[in-house]
Amino acid sequence: MNRIVLKLGKAKPFLNDEPLVFSGAIQKVIGNPAAAELVEVCTVDQQPIGVGVYNPYSNYRVRLLAKTTENLPTDLMAILTYRLQQAINFRHTLDLPNTHTNAYRLVNSEGDGLSGLTIDVFADYCVASVTAYWLMLYKEIVLACLEKLGFSHVIWRPQIKALEQDGWRETHFIVHDSEKMVTIQENDIMYQADIGLGQKTGFYCDQRQNRLVIRSLAKDRKVLDCFCYTGGFALNAAYGGAKKVVGIESSAPAIAQAQHNAKLNQLNHITFSNAKAEDILSSAIQYDMIILDPPKLAPSKQHLPRATQRYLKLNQLALTALPKNGLLFTCSCSNAMTQTAFLAMVHNAAKKVNRKIEILQQTGAAPDHRFLPRASYGNYLKAVLVRVKN
Ligand code: SAH
Repeated sequence: MNRIVLKLGKAKPFLNDEPLVFSGAIQKVIGNPAAAELVEVCTVDQQPIGVGVYNPYSNYRVRLLAKTTENLPTDLMAILTYRLQQAINFRHTLDLPNTHTNAYRLVNSEGDGLSGLTIDVFADYCVASVTAYWLMLYKEIVLACLEKLGFSHVIWRPQIKALEQDGWRETHFIVHDSEKMVTIQENDIMYQADIGLGQKTGFYCDQRQNRLVIRSLAKDRKVLDCFCYTGGFALNAAYGGAKKVVGIESSAPAIAQAQHNAKLNQLNHITFSNAKAEDILSSAIQYDMIILDPPKLAPSKQHLPRATQRYLKLNQLALTALPKNGLLFTCSCSNAMTQTAFLAMVHNAAKKVNRKIEILQQTGAAPDHRFLPRASYGNYLKAVLVRVKN
């Protein structure tokens, strides 16, 4: 196997599970590995650290897939099968799937030792969202491993922009571009999800536990779910006994799906409206619980200052509208925004509109979205439950 020798002093993070070897950490390449070829990464004195996939086109020069200390066979099928089985076993420890929930994240990229691969399971289907060259090249092997482990209906969704950044060139991406509806269940609520064309993998499993937070607090409240997509928070609020529920969403297909989902569960008193959240929030004084789950407003660090202003504006509008004792559940899925910066933004929003607040809870994505402590890129979702004190 060809070898990648790291520079002196650069090995430590990789001995500690960091999976991405940037080109700057490499002293030399021994041999002439092709893109996606398995290579051995080693220290400057040739001590092996692990095996990964090489990529001369990407800043992520090697994505490590197995550590030498794990003693795995060094062929791709064996490594993949082992990692996928580990991923399945871990979800079993979280009791996923179970009789109430059959939608969950099975593979969370680096968090599951499979950099570039995200897999969500939806009942009998799964959706693979793919951002790395090696996965495109070995698609058939990945599908064969999944089939062997009982996942035979896989929707393969290549993420074109990320793949181009990873050096994958394809004049015509064969992208699954047709609707594929599946009925799923999350904590006893049913949803129809379009796993072929819907946003991301079709359904946001990361908010599963946060939706339960809303369910548990919604009784007798008047709830405004901004950015509601296919209704996740709104349906949970209604299920939890809210007096009134309104969902706002700018995508017409998502709103139609949300309406359908409400019917599926006979939650008939929810109003879904195709509108811009900002427009509704500016006159939302009839609500005493507001949920803000905007799309990723800061795609990278350089977008952060502008995005922070947008988060600030949204949170100011919500905090202005809410009465004393009102609850705000506010989220950011921007990786570039840290938990500390997010909390500071919420605090700032309250100060600007002269409201006193307290924080009742801080959460993130559900635990099936595990991530490495060193790799901050996995910790994207931040959520804060706020109570307005005056
Ligand atoms: N809360 C949802 C996920 C929200 S994702 C759930 O639990 O499933 C963010 C959503 O915001 C997307 O569906 C996107 O279409 C929508 N969106 C983007 N800009 C918007 C705006 N200005 N007003 C309302 N919705 C918007």
